[in-house]
Amino acid sequence: PDNILEVSHLKKYFPIKGGFFGGVTGNVKAVDDVSFSIKRGTTMGLVGESGCGKSTTGRTILRLIDKTDGTVLFNGEDIGTYDKKKLRKLRTKMQIIFQDPYSSLSPRLPIGEIIGEAVREHGLVSKEEYDDYVTKVMKDCGLQEYHKDRYPHEFSGGQRQRICIARALALNPEFVVCDEPVSALDVSIQAQIINLLRELQEKRNLTYLFISHDLSVVEHISDTVGVMYLGGLVETGKTEDIFAKPLHPYTQALFSAIPMPDPDYKKERIILKGDIPSPANPPAGCKFHTRCEKCMEICKKEDPKARDMGNGHVVKCHLYDEK
Ligand code: SF4
Ligand code: MG
Repeated sequence: PDNILEVSHLKKYFPIKGGFFGGVTGNVKAVDDVSFSIKRGTTMGLVGESGCGKSTTGRTILRLIDKTDGTVLFNGEDIGTYDKKKLRKLRTKMQIIFQDPYSSLSPRLPIGEIIGEAVREHGLVSKEEYDDYVTKVMKDCGLQEYHKDRYPHEFSGGQRQRICIARALALNPEFVVCDEPVSALDVSIQAQIINLLRELQEKRNLTYLFISHDLSVVEHISDTVGVMYLGGLVETGKTEDIFAKPLHPYTQALFSAIPMPDPDYKKERIILKGDIPSPANPPAGCKFHTRCEKCMEICKKEDPKARDMGNGHVVKCHLYDEK
């Protein structure tokens, strides 16, 4: 299939335990009815404020945590039905890179072992090929062969992220969730890692789900963008369309904070009123209605349906209801 990933009506609720008898008193709706697809070899950026469900979406797709409902098709197959054995194999095809490259590397293992361990466990290459294979992946990620015997603490943050990327790519994945992969790095290093990710994508025809709260990074690396608010996807589309003409009032507010390179172009900064409501108790109707300047009566009652405005630009907002 053209789409490597198809996510439909994905939900992830976390039960809230409490009360006198420790029973379940409610749910945190971390991911609430999210649908999107990603074309092979492209990058989809997932943006939104912290706590909106971006990371949980990524982890649920990878089956690192169990979904509550919905389906995830990977290469056309429903991976929700996979048993342990198939899931183990799937692990090599889908990988994740985290924000903090230090805490995700074992301090006691040398780099060569960190990168090669899972390659051996999965029996991806023969004993004879193993050393060269690991060296090659390391070089592809900008690391040197002599780094194999060094330990994580001997490396800078940027190099540690290269090690994490090498470890993920050593398994020869098709799809990688990049969860804030450059957010912990200096700005000067961020560009290097972004360029590395793009280079590797080109070489290996990788598909990325790139999670970030940094809109300029997302604009730079993504082909398509999804905007999340309170567990829901409010707008998706091609990167250039969304950045040129955001349709959803939340996206408009979020994007109004990006500094513009052209000083003559004065964009009005939209300041959102109020706080993000609790995902344990989201507002009825449109979840954004408590903070939306354009809120209408219908918004308080009815959850808006997703509507394609053309060119795959989909928005969930009553302003665009068919009149
Ligand atoms: Fe605002 Fe209504 Fe659109 Fe929600 S549906 S974003 S409240 S206008
Ligand atoms: Mg996160």
